[in-house]
Amino acid sequence: MCEHTPPCPAADATDADAARPRSACHTQGWTLLCNGVLLFDDTGEIRPDLQVIPPRRAVAAEQTEVAA
Ligand SMILES: [Zn+2]
Repeated sequence: MCEHTPPCPAADATDADAARPRSACHTQGWTLLCNGVLLFDDTGEIRPDLQVIPPRRAVAAEQTEVAA
C-alpha cells in the first residue's frame, strides 16, 4: 500500500500516472507505480485489475498529417 504523504493517486484515478515509481526497467520500457499501475514508455498502461489502457501519444494526429 502507498505510504507516501500526500498519498499517490489511486489506480483508477484520472491522474493515476502521477503515482511515484516503485520499480522500473528502462531497457524494457516500463515503470511499476506505487498504486500498482504498470506504465509503459509509450504512455500505455496495465491497471492492477488487468484493464489495458492504450498509449495516449498524439500519434494519430501525425499520421493524419502525413496522409493528408
Ligand atoms: Zn505512493
